[in-house]
Amino acid sequence: MTSPTAPTTTADLLRVQALRKVYGSGRGETEAVRDLSFATREGEMVCIVGPSGAGKTTLLRCIAGLLPPTSGEVVLSGRPVAGPPEGMAVVFQDYARSLFPWLTVAQNVELPLREKGVGKAERRRLVAESLEAVGLADVPGSYPWQLSGGMQQRVAIARAVAFQPRILLMDEPFAAVDAQTRADLEDLVRDLWKRLGVTLLFVTHDIDEAIYLGQRVLVLSSRPTVILEDVAVDLPAERDQLTTRNDPRFHELRTRVYALVQQAKRGHRPASEVTPA
Ligand code: ADP
Ligand code: MG
Repeated sequence: MTSPTAPTTTADLLRVQALRKVYGSGRGETEAVRDLSFATREGEMVCIVGPSGAGKTTLLRCIAGLLPPTSGEVVLSGRPVAGPPEGMAVVFQDYARSLFPWLTVAQNVELPLREKGVGKAERRRLVAESLEAVGLADVPGSYPWQLSGGMQQRVAIARAVAFQPRILLMDEPFAAVDAQTRADLEDLVRDLWKRLGVTLLFVTHDIDEAIYLGQRVLVLSSRPTVILEDVAVDLPAERDQLTTRNDPRFHELRTRVYALVQQAKRGHRPASEVTPA
């Protein structure tokens, strides 16, 4: 089990150290994240669960360099994050707002590659490959609004994959799609993760989803959020929707994480936390 104060090893890709984020000031102040620390190794799949309003999105935005922390730091590959870092891609919950409606599916996927300065032939290859990987090879010329919600989220995933990130952050990416599509997208993400060797940080409020996908589940407290527990998911690496979800160990882990999330909702804080006077 990783403790928040575990020494940094050379294999740590991402290190979040004593991160704190306070919105606003004075009486309008909202402390979203408090003294939050963890590290992830290269190639890991880490899921983050916590109550709604806990500070999950705030945490992810700080990690992505989209929001400056109030204190503490985020270190990626040994370098402090001060803006959107190279080699990182983010998939948000709201795919409708993250895709450009006036660009086709292929153009949406291609855009970050243009901005990265990737040559035309290479761009074409990456766009085709990533659309193929998410099962959208046949709609490159469609516009996002012509597609279902699940397909639009696939476009957003394809765009992130084409970018070839070293680390991929996903913020409740399947919250707005139906249950069947969600199961398919979960398997797609596991599959892409295994094939690409990318490090994945996946935020969800769905406990079963966190356990099904992750090698570790970080359970967050309610706001101001800290890590309540770092749960190792000791399920076989080969997962599928039926076998894995019927595994007795899956049920034990779900019971454990469920209890922790319930505690979090009741305002439970970790024993290690120093209560401010
Ligand atoms: P989660 O993603 O876990 O639901 P958020 O990170 O979105 O939680 O929000 C954590 C807390 O911070 C909430 O109380 C929310 O209202 C507050 N918050 C989020 N964004 C802002 C903002 N831009 N300004 C002020 N408060 C914010
Ligand atoms: Mg959120």
